[in-house]
Amino acid sequence: MATNLANQPTAINADRDAGLVTIDWADGHRSVFDAVSLRLLCPCAYCQGEAGRPGWLDTNPTLTPDQTQLVAMRLIGQYALAPTWGDGHDTGYYTFEQLRTECPCSICAETRPA
Ligand SMILES: [Zn+2]
Ligand SMILES: [Zn+2]
Repeated sequence: MATNLANQPTAINADRDAGLVTIDWADGHRSVFDAVSLRLLCPCAYCQGEAGRPGWLDTNPTLTPDQTQLVAMRLIGQYALAPTWGDGHDTGYYTFEQLRTECPCSICAETRPA
């Protein structure tokens, strides 16, 4: 299978004090996620729901500072990142493909279908 450079990180930097996660991609693009946006993207079954049931994030919760505090970041194999949040939540595996697709920069926002 050909490697898709756009989904291949070359560097990942989690700045816990600033609450920013910066990913440099093999095609030269850079994505910068703030912790709040990242938490809202949490793909786990609890946050996003599963099997048609709504998840916690579907209830538009007010996030506490704990819930958006990045305390750690694990690399899952060669395909995903798993942040640990201040409230202990760590079950969200963000695949590189998802992170690239959700890149918040203005260039990607413009090309993303509404
Ligand atoms: Zn989650
Ligand atoms: Zn981008």
